Amino acid sequence: MAKVVPRPHLSLWENLYVVEIFKGLMTTWGHVQKNVTTGAFETRNYPEEAPSLPRDYRARHRLMKRPDGSPRCVACFMCSTACPARCINIVAEEADRADIEKRPATFEIDLLLCVFCGFCVEACPCDAIRMDTTIGVMVHDNRRDFIITKDKLLDWAPADYPATDTQSQKAPGGTLNAQALAEFNAGSRH
Ligand code: SF4
Ligand code: SF4
Repeated sequence: MAKVVPRPHLSLWENLYVVEIFKGLMTTWGHVQKNVTTGAFETRNYPEEAPSLPRDYRARHRLMKRPDGSPRCVACFMCSTACPARCINIVAEEADRADIEKRPATFEIDLLLCVFCGFCVEACPCDAIRMDTTIGVMVHDNRRDFIITKDKLLDWAPADYPATDTQSQKAPGGTLNAQALAEFNAGSRH
């Protein structure tokens, strides 16, 4: 059954509105004064001053690397299947190692279609794609550059990631790479 909500009874002064508008303006002015006098008015010269984004912010994607620099991706298409925007395009090919079946010949993400939901990261069974680059602002002067290719997705340096991120540190240039590469070449999985 529909619920009847009684209309509020307005007094004469409230019906005139002028007094209520003035009271609202005084509240706004009070907040402005408080912010200015206490220095609590947080402003940023955006975009000249880029915000510092936390690692768990869903930013631009990257593809994780094996110790030899090849993508961890096994071209299983789980991410592209889970993607609600249908913006991941993968072409699979046979891998050149006996212990790895497939790898991506091409891997592209159209950032103009992407809704940055993170479903691709959640769907990946082997931690091969992440969105922890903290690249939150992407500006290009043509649409083609918003399609990030496999090379761009693999173009990241372990030094830009925390020492506690062991998977990143096992990639070429990382602090754990030498040991990880020896184990990888000996046949253990990474
Ligand atoms: S973040 Fe969401 S929309 Fe973007 S590529 Fe991943 S699954 Fe697709
Ligand atoms: S889900 Fe992971 S392993 Fe599978 S295609 Fe996507 S990135 Fe590659």
